[in-house]
Amino acid sequence: MTVASDIEIARAAKKKPIREIGDRLGIPEDALLPFGHDKAKISAEFIDGLKDRPNGKLILVTAINPTPAGEGKTTTTVGLGDGLNAIGKKAAICIREASLGPCFGMKGGAAGGGYAQVVPMEDMNLHFTGDFHAITSAHNLLSAMIDNHIYWGNELEIDQRRVVWRRVMDMNDRALRDVVTSLGGVANGFPRQGGFDITVASEVMAILCLATDLADLQRRLGDIIVAYRRDRTAITCREIKADGAMTVLLQQAMQPNIVQTLENNPAFVHGGPFANIAHGCNSVIATTTALKLADYVVTEAGFGADLGAEKFMNIKCRKAGLSPDCVVLVATIRAMKMNGGVTKDNLGSENVDAVRDGCENLGRHIGNLKSFGVPVVVAINHFISDTEAEVAAVKDYVASQGAEAYLCKHWADGSAGITELATRVAQVADSGVSQFAPLYRDELPLFEKIEAIAKRIYRADEVLADKKIRDQLRQWEADGFGDLPICMAKTQYSFTTDPNLRGAPRGHSVPVREVRLSAGAGFVVVICGEIMTMPGLPRVPSAEAIGLNDAGQIEGLF
Ligand code: ADP
Ligand code: MG
Repeated sequence: MTVASDIEIARAAKKKPIREIGDRLGIPEDALLPFGHDKAKISAEFIDGLKDRPNGKLILVTAINPTPAGEGKTTTTVGLGDGLNAIGKKAAICIREASLGPCFGMKGGAAGGGYAQVVPMEDMNLHFTGDFHAITSAHNLLSAMIDNHIYWGNELEIDQRRVVWRRVMDMNDRALRDVVTSLGGVANGFPRQGGFDITVASEVMAILCLATDLADLQRRLGDIIVAYRRDRTAITCREIKADGAMTVLLQQAMQPNIVQTLENNPAFVHGGPFANIAHGCNSVIATTTALKLADYVVTEAGFGADLGAEKFMNIKCRKAGLSPDCVVLVATIRAMKMNGGVTKDNLGSENVDAVRDGCENLGRHIGNLKSFGVPVVVAINHFISDTEAEVAAVKDYVASQGAEAYLCKHWADGSAGITELATRVAQVADSGVSQFAPLYRDELPLFEKIEAIAKRIYRADEVLADKKIRDQLRQWEADGFGDLPICMAKTQYSFTTDPNLRGAPRGHSVPVREVRLSAGAGFVVVICGEIMTMPGLPRVPSAEAIGLNDAGQIEGLF
């Protein structure tokens, strides 16, 4: 059997004009700002007028600790959205936009896969509606204005050694990680060390994804800390007077994008913050808009549930006043096996014992998610190599944990392969059993918030942090940032900070290497382990195989 590639399937899609997709959600044509025939932004005025409408049900898709391949969260989000529509529900999905740079490295697409995809996937993975370009521009405008301020006399007394605002670009380019700027003489300013991050790592991205409207966006941009003085007092973006112009650059980008799935169902694709130093979810404005327009909204959080779902609940839901009605936990037989100790090369052969061993990881996530007060349903994302005995082993295990697992074949069969899960999820969401509460209170001291996550989600015994780090946290509390939530940055492959420790380890220590304040986004980033904010390209980047064919179509994108 030959399996069509994602791009081949996507290219064969019978897309409907975007106004028809908007119409399904009751969006009038004049509220759609079309980008070509198959993409549109939804106007801010229209969104403003939705405030008093009731919300639909919110369904979060998350996953167990993944294998390096990705476990199909996006694919399942898209499939479940199509599945809900197929059983007669008015459902929409909300996912992140893709970062352009990694598409030329080695990453797969961000639009789902197989017969559960969002289209046009080429656009989505490349320039799309220009949001990331706008974010890049807004970020770099601030960078330019900081250096310009120093150049023209440095009235704010910025300590040039303590400029913390870097530059960004949406490209994987390790050569730019650390650079010296302003070389070349007096007219070019004062040389200083700087560097580039990838656009999705920009605090502007996190801000755009958490802001509720343009006024909130500007306030948050103004709050960004860009540098420190010699006396260590902070200098904000507002003092540089960049917040107004940045908001102007982001005005269009703040409006959520709507596209469609292969089955012509509405898909909101908006924002895409890193899942490590940021919270890894699509924008609040897209999610809240979708909730006003659809009865069920299916959304995704990046990484495994220990990071992605935890941040979705403790950062996004807390800040946006959202409350999930049901969580779908994606598991794959392959990931179960890897968590059960099987190496990547041996995933193809049946190994029920390893699947059973790996189930511990799944069980831990089920328990964790329940501790947020939300009901959990497990989706087994079916791969063709999975055997019946392996699937049965997972179902039995999940039943023993007081939850249900459904085998889902949306990747191969689209909505027809996921109606059982869709039916159950709709029931659970409608039942009103969810009693969502974040894991910790706003008032808890910052270090105790870190401990709450480490002990209750990672099941660690202790958090290790130098005096310097603890002092820094106390300083921020004194400066009025004590009520912020925590944004953990650690490996997605393990509950611990060691990517090789799979399964469900207990009793470990969580060493904190560094803490950073994202005052505009509104969280404290806690870095445990090495975190890369500017990726490089692999030895053979996928860019080498990307090109246009004779028909002018893109080849080699995935
Ligand atoms: P995640 O969102 O968890 O990172 P994705 O949904 O983007 O994962 O899927 C990652 C890759 O795995 C995609 O290329 C997708 O086509 C592929 N994939 C997902 N589900 C399946 C499946 N059931 N069978 C085969 N490939 C799959
Ligand atoms: Mg994904």
